[in-house]
Amino acid sequence: MTQKFSCKKCGSCCRTISDIEELEEYDLGDGSCKYLKNNICLIYNERPEVCRVDKIYLKYFKENMKLKDYHKKISQLCSRIKNMNNK
Ligand code: SF4
Ligand code: SF4
Repeated sequence: MTQKFSCKKCGSCCRTISDIEELEEYDLGDGSCKYLKNNICLIYNERPEVCRVDKIYLKYFKENMKLKDYHKKISQLCSRIKNMNNK
């Protein structure tokens, strides 16, 4: 079975969506998604593709990157976003 990305559920990425075109209508105006509640996505099963880390891997990165390397990159990105949010 394919290993899934281990999201820490910090909610940081969902509070930093202002530059994501696909999520324009989700933005409360401060970069936070209107569907984030207590760090949980209220529409998790129906969330858009751009929010689906593993689906994006299969669609765009699978041919050129190993899954574990992709997950490592995503984790690094999560840390960067978290630091941005904490500033
Ligand atoms: S920033 Fe990373 S760890 Fe935090 S909720 Fe988003 S995907 Fe999960
Ligand atoms: S739809 Fe869900 S996963 Fe996507 S940014 Fe909003 S709260 Fe986060």
